[in-house]
Amino acid sequence: MDLTALRYSAQALSDRGRKRESNEDAFGLLVDQGIFIVCDGMGGAAAGEVASSLAVEETLRKFSAHDQPWPSPEAAVQAAEDAILAANDAVYRHAEQNPAFAGMGTTLVALVCAGPQAWFLNVGDSRGYLVRGRQLRQITLDHSLVDEQVRAGRMTQEQALYSPLRNIITRALGTRGQVTPDVFELDPEPGDLFLLCSDGLSRELSDAEIESLLNADRPLDELCKSLIDAANHAGGGDNITCLLVRASV
Ligand code: CA
Repeated sequence: MDLTALRYSAQALSDRGRKRESNEDAFGLLVDQGIFIVCDGMGGAAAGEVASSLAVEETLRKFSAHDQPWPSPEAAVQAAEDAILAANDAVYRHAEQNPAFAGMGTTLVALVCAGPQAWFLNVGDSRGYLVRGRQLRQITLDHSLVDEQVRAGRMTQEQALYSPLRNIITRALGTRGQVTPDVFELDPEPGDLFLLCSDGLSRELSDAEIESLLNADRPLDELCKSLIDAANHAGGGDNITCLLVRASV
């Protein structure tokens, strides 16, 4: 099969949830250029909104400044990493120059698709998942204190879920002069469904619940809506954002 012929379609939806006054999440996508992003801002309402939307805009702007087609798939992921570093710089400088925005930052999860290859890149605790063969798998690893404790065997998943430390993230975009995103290489296949989401989704719903909703045979926009509705039904304690990308031939 000629996997260079893989095509991608996408839909995204963001919702304030039921408890927050504003929505500090942001998303952006350039389907034709193969880049998809979800950010979850922090630092107080106005600052969080600025950080997440600035990070999305700057990453897309830098990434799309490159000419396509890419000389190699690796050039695409390199361009994405560079764009994320530029976005880090933009958010960090903006905070430095505006005392009201001091300390603002954002998570970022991005999916980059180029020819037969794709990658997740992440900073913070927004997540990238893959549904293949009706099975949901979390691909990215959270940069959060509790998740790192779980991975080190010092805390159980159950303890992490209810820990008072669960909001502490250990890596963010824009809070320091430097950031290093993690990069996860994917081998996309026709039928793959990628989910990018903020923690307002992944904290309200278990992986099993997300998997079951995503296995419904419905268009992407309806799947986004069903995820948001379910997260709100479960409490809607935080802003909820989901972005779905389907690979097909
Ligand atoms: Ca959040």
